[in-house]
Amino acid sequence: MGHRDILAACGLAEGALSGGDLAVTTPVDGSVIAQLSTDDAAALAAKIERARAAFRAWRDVPAPRRGELVRLLGEELRAEKDNLGALVTLECGKILPEGLGEVQEMIDICDFAVGLSRQLHGLTIVSERPGHAMRETWLPMGVCGIISAFNFPVAVWSWNAALALVCGDPVIWKPSEKTPLTALAVQKICERALARFGDDAPEGLIQLALGGRDIGEALAASPDVAIVSATGSVPMGRAVAESVAKRLGRSILELGGNNAMIVAPSADLDLALRAITFSAVGTCGQRCTSLRRLIVHEEVYSALLPKLKAVYDGLAIGDPLAGGTLVGPLIDGDALAAMAAALEEAEAQGGTVHGGGRALEDEYPDAAYVRPAIVEMPGQSDIVRSETFAPILYALRYRDLDEAIALQNGVPQGLSSCIFSTDVRETEAFLAASGSDCGIANVNIGPSGAEIGGAFGGEKETGGGRESGSDAWKAYMRRQTATVNWSRDLPLAQGITFDV
Ligand code: NAD
Repeated sequence: MGHRDILAACGLAEGALSGGDLAVTTPVDGSVIAQLSTDDAAALAAKIERARAAFRAWRDVPAPRRGELVRLLGEELRAEKDNLGALVTLECGKILPEGLGEVQEMIDICDFAVGLSRQLHGLTIVSERPGHAMRETWLPMGVCGIISAFNFPVAVWSWNAALALVCGDPVIWKPSEKTPLTALAVQKICERALARFGDDAPEGLIQLALGGRDIGEALAASPDVAIVSATGSVPMGRAVAESVAKRLGRSILELGGNNAMIVAPSADLDLALRAITFSAVGTCGQRCTSLRRLIVHEEVYSALLPKLKAVYDGLAIGDPLAGGTLVGPLIDGDALAAMAAALEEAEAQGGTVHGGGRALEDEYPDAAYVRPAIVEMPGQSDIVRSETFAPILYALRYRDLDEAIALQNGVPQGLSSCIFSTDVRETEAFLAASGSDCGIANVNIGPSGAEIGGAFGGEKETGGGRESGSDAWKAYMRRQTATVNWSRDLPLAQGITFDV
């Protein structure tokens, strides 16, 4: 399918994709595929007002009925999986199986949220007073603003939106300015689900605001946006956190990672090799959970590294829409420059670089294809401690597990981590309080490719937010503690007497 066919299959007619101020390029070949109109501050304010009005109606719709809307959304996504998956690939450059996987993740979280819509359980609590009952309930919170990054252009929205909608919150989505077309396509899919759902979905329940950083800033600053869920870089998260905190709002932050794998002497090296390759070069190293640091025991380092280099030398780099490709392009020229600068710095800090550099330059002069790099480092220097959003894997040696865990934790970010070991003493130590300090800690699985059933997120500079499964839904609701006196007396708590 050509680029135009992919857009048309998603209902994005050519006429609607021209004349605006936002140029959208495809990383596949660097060509401009749309010129979109964006929202200004006044348009965003009107959308926030509509969402506020929608909240007043939606919060009173019973949660299982709200779940029905998300069930219909899941059905529409199933029908559109192939088309939307191809558009994800066209717009952000991840290979087609990953584009389709991202849409599958949307379907999965819809299924999860439908079940959740009947399980927004609170608590009953025993009261210290006779004739009294206490309970804790979870109630809709308000408008949820979703700011998302380019690298998961649709799944991150769905992690938030599916939960927010069943929790009773309208959503306004500010997608990355690098990937607005997938957002437009998802909005069309939502409109189909809303049309099937019927009249009790208020107007303004699911909205999209297109634009750059200024629109994200305005969403974060608005006191009428009760929850701001922001996914992106650490500097972006810091700005959003400050803005939301200033007005004492609630933020959910999903920021950068610097994810490591410890390869212990007892590791199954063939398994590790496959996990390293997928997690370090998948999505061309542009996942928040991409493997960036390989911490290998000195006994197995010389067995593992040559094999890994051989795998890297054979990687199929190319058009992400073509079958057989494993590594697509970086998102743009800025990402290419950042990768080159990081490799230069790594060399200056004592590293030995294997791979790296541009690929397919003659075929795609305006795109940013690269050869993934392995950099053998003498220690965990500054460049290793920072996130470069590109396929660079730093390899380090260790002697004992305490040293490996100290290296693993010795970075500002705390998203994902893993250990390859068949020694239960080591794997349990890795998962214990003095083990990995990350939000995600895996055993014999790479750091990327989380399932939606668990809570997703990380600590330290990653921002502390949790989305997706487990009880992440609680962040989209307000907790209410209610005490009911069904007696004919008025005993006070703590035995206080106050006779009037
Ligand atoms: P980015 O920070 O450049 O942009 C992300 C979004 O934030 C965009 O929509 C952008 O317009 C908006 N934005 C930028 N500055 C803003 C501000 N001051 N106020 C409000 N909004 C603002 O990130 P990116 O380059 O699109 O994505 C890559 C980064 O995202 C990486 O650091 C990656 O690790 C991180 N990421 C994290 C997760 C996670 O779940 N932890 C998931 C995906 C990506």
